[in-house]
Amino acid sequence: MYIGILIIIICKMKKLIYLLAFGWAVISCQGTKEVTSKILLSPIKYNNTITAEELKTHLYIVAADSMQGRQTGSIGQKKAGKYLISQYQKERIPFPKGAQNYYQHVPAAFLNANRNGNLPDTENIWAYIEGSEKPDEIIVISAHYDHVGTKDDAIFNGADDDGSGTVALLEIAQAFQLAKKEGHGPKRSILFLHVTAEEHGLHGSRYYTENPLFPLQNTVANINIDMIGRRDDAHPDSNNYVYLIGADRLSSELDQISKTVNEKYVQLNLDFRYNALNDPNNFYRRSDHYNFAKNNIPSVFIFNGVHADYHRKTDTPDKIEYDALTKRAQLAFNIAWELANRENRIVVDQK
Ligand SMILES: [Zn+2]
Repeated sequence: MYIGILIIIICKMKKLIYLLAFGWAVISCQGTKEVTSKILLSPIKYNNTITAEELKTHLYIVAADSMQGRQTGSIGQKKAGKYLISQYQKERIPFPKGAQNYYQHVPAAFLNANRNGNLPDTENIWAYIEGSEKPDEIIVISAHYDHVGTKDDAIFNGADDDGSGTVALLEIAQAFQLAKKEGHGPKRSILFLHVTAEEHGLHGSRYYTENPLFPLQNTVANINIDMIGRRDDAHPDSNNYVYLIGADRLSSELDQISKTVNEKYVQLNLDFRYNALNDPNNFYRRSDHYNFAKNNIPSVFIFNGVHADYHRKTDTPDKIEYDALTKRAQLAFNIAWELANRENRIVVDQK
C-alpha cells in the first residue's frame, strides 16, 4: 500500500477519533458535575483496612523493649523512627514535596532554649500524600513518637503514650494510599507528621509550626492523636468511647464533621467533658494540636484519657485494647477523609 494513502486514511481516522473523543468529553463533562455533587465516594472500604491485627503488629515493634522508651534524641527513638520510615517506604508513600527526606531535623538549641535543658538533636518524621485537586491545601495528622525513655533500668515502653497514635498514623496513611492507588486519592494533601519531644513540652510540633514545610495559611486542619489504646476510670464498663477536645474552638464545621462521620462510620460514644473551657486538666494545651490551634488552625485532639499506667513502665502493648484502638484510629481517618475531600475548605468561624 502506498504510504501517502495510508497517511490520508490515518488523518481521516484521527479526525474521526477527535470528533468521537470530543463528543464523549462533552457528554462525560455534563455527567460528572451531577454525579460528584451527589455521590461523594464512601470511605468504608478504606476504613476497613485499618485493622486491630496490623495495629498490634506495628505497636509490638514501636513499643518493644529494644526501643528503650523512645526518649527524645536517643538511639531507641531513632530506631523507632527508622521503623516508621520503612513502613512508608514499603507502602510507597513519599516524604513531602520540598523536603529532602523523611526527617525534619530539630536542633538541640531549639529544644533547650526555653528550659536550659540538655536534650540532643532530634527529628520529626513526615510522609505525604499529595491531593489530586487542591494539592496546596494541607491536612496535618499528627502523633508524637517520643516517650520518656528508661529509669533505673526500667523501660517505659509508652505503648499507649503515644505508641498508639504513632501506629494509627501508619494505618491511616496506608488506607489513604490504597484509595489513591485505586483512583480515589484525597483531593487535598495530607501530611503525616510524627512529632518528637512532645514529652518535654510539645517541642516537635512547635518546631514544625515555627518552621512549616507548607504555609500555615494553607494548613486546613490538624488531627492530633495521643493515647487512644486504653480506657480510663471514667469508663470502666466499655471502651467504646473517645474524648474529643478542641474541635469547636476554631471551627464549628470541624466539630460538626467529627460528630457526623463518627455517627455514620464509627459509632463511638463521643465524650466532650475535657473540652470544657474551664476543665482543670487543661488537656487542650497538653498535646501537639495546641501548637496548630494557637496558629488559628482548626484542630481536634483524639484521646482516651489517663489511666494507672500513664507515664509508668507498665504502659505496655499487652495492655492495649486493640478493638478500641482500631475504632479511634478509624475515627481519625474518617475525619481526615471528609476534610480532604469535601468541596469547600472548612471555615474558621470561632474565636
Ligand atoms: Zn506522655
